[in-house]
Amino acid sequence: MAAQTVASTTNSTANPAADSVDLGPAAALSCRECGHRVPLGPVFACEECFGPLEIAYDFSGYDTEELRKRIESGPANIWRYAPLLPVPADVAGKPNINPGWTKLVKADNLARELGVDAGKLFVKDDSGNPTHSFKDRVVAQALEAARAFGFTTLSCSSTGNLAGAVGAAAARAGLRSCVFIPHDLEQGKVVMAAVYGGELVGIEGNYDDVNRFCSELIGDPAGEGWGFVNVNLRPYYAEGSKTLAYEICEQLGWQLPDQLVVPIASGSQLTKIDKGLKELIALGLVEDKPYKIFGAQAEGCSPVSVAYKAGHDVVRPQKPNTIAKSLAIGNPADGPYVLDIARRTGGAVEDVNDEQVVDAIKLLARTEGIFAETAGGVTVGVAKKLIENGLLDPHLTTVVLNTGDGLKTLDAVASDTGLTATIRPSLDSFREAGLG
Ligand SMILES: *Cc1c(COP(=O)(O)O)cnc(C)c1O
Ligand SMILES: [Zn+2]
Repeated sequence: MAAQTVASTTNSTANPAADSVDLGPAAALSCRECGHRVPLGPVFACEECFGPLEIAYDFSGYDTEELRKRIESGPANIWRYAPLLPVPADVAGKPNINPGWTKLVKADNLARELGVDAGKLFVKDDSGNPTHSFKDRVVAQALEAARAFGFTTLSCSSTGNLAGAVGAAAARAGLRSCVFIPHDLEQGKVVMAAVYGGELVGIEGNYDDVNRFCSELIGDPAGEGWGFVNVNLRPYYAEGSKTLAYEICEQLGWQLPDQLVVPIASGSQLTKIDKGLKELIALGLVEDKPYKIFGAQAEGCSPVSVAYKAGHDVVRPQKPNTIAKSLAIGNPADGPYVLDIARRTGGAVEDVNDEQVVDAIKLLARTEGIFAETAGGVTVGVAKKLIENGLLDPHLTTVVLNTGDGLKTLDAVASDTGLTATIRPSLDSFREAGLG
C-alpha cells in the first residue's frame, strides 16, 4: 500500500551539505504552521513564520507486508523502525545507546483497583531504557542527526533526565558532551548526568533561563559544531517519540489501542505519538479506527490542562511548583498542538496534585511491581481521575505510559515509606511486633 509521498523540493544551493546528508526516509524539513519546506539541516524554526519545523518523509515504495516483516526481524530496540525514522539505513551498526523495545505490561492488578476490565489495561514501562527514562529514545535520534551534520559536541538544556541521556549517548559515540542544568537540581539527577564523564554546567537560574542561555550560545561562535539535541536538533530529536507509538501497536499485535494516557512536559512526546499512530494507519500496518489521546500534567505545572478546561487554544505560561520535575515546563512549546490532538481525538487533558502523584506511584508499585518516577505517578494518577470522572472508558484497551524510573525521584516517596518494624534478631521479638 502506498503511503504519504513527499516530493523532493530540496534546494541544493540553499544548503550544500543537505545533498550529502543520509537520514534514510527523511526528505526535508517542513513547517508545521505554513508548510514551507527547507532541506535537512540543523534548523528548528521556519524562516517564513517562525513555526516549528518537522521531518517530512518519503515513504513511497514501501510494501506493507514487506515492511512489517522487516520490522519484526529487526533488532530488539528502536532501530527495528529505522525505515520510519530520520536515520541512515545502517544505523543499527553504529555506536548508539540503542534504547526501546521496553515492556508493555498487562496490568490486571492495577485494572482491578481502577475498575478497568481484565486484560484491557497496559503500562508501557519506559524505565527499562539505558538511562532509565524515555529520553534515550529522542537522544538516540538526535545523535544520528549530529553525526550526519558533522557536529563534534552534543549538548542540551535539561531538568535532569535529558542530561543523563545525552551524557551516555555522547560517551558511547565518542563525542564531547557539555550539558546545562539549573544549578539546584536534585542530587540524584546531577550524579546521573555527571557519571558519564562529560561536562556538566549548573546555571544560576531556572530551566527557562538555561534554555535562553543555550539559544544565545547557538548563535555565538563559541557554539560552533555544537548539536543541542532539544534546540537546533529538535526536529530529529522529536521523532524518537514516534517509536513509543510503533512499539505499543506492535506489542498489541499490530493494533491501535483505544485510549492512551501520555505525560506532557513540552508536549513533544504526545504530539509525536499521534504522528506515529497516523503513520502506521497510512502505511497499512494497523487497521484504521478511532483512538483517544489523553494528556497528563501535575497540578503544580498544568498550563495545558488549564487551557484545555477553559476551552482556550493558547497556553498561558505558569511558574512550575511540583514534585514532578521532569514534567515541569511552564511554557510548553507544543502546548497548542496537544490541545488540538486531545480535542480532535476525543481525549482530554487532566492534572493531579503532588499528593495524588505520590499515591499513584505507590499504587503502581503495590499492584504491578513497577516503581515509577513522578512522571509515571502523574499518568497513573490522571488515568485514575479520568476513570472516576467518566472521561476514560474502563471497557476499552488503554495504555498508560510510565516514562521514568522511581530510583531517580526517591525523595518523592522517601518520607512516605519505610520500615514496617524494627525488631531484635529473635522470634519473640518477631511475634511481639505482630509479624508472626
Ligand atoms: C521529557 C520527559 C517526558 C516528556 O516530555 P515532552 O517534552 O512532553 O516530550 C515525559 N516523561 C519524562 C520522565 C521525561 O523526562
Ligand atoms: Zn512556516
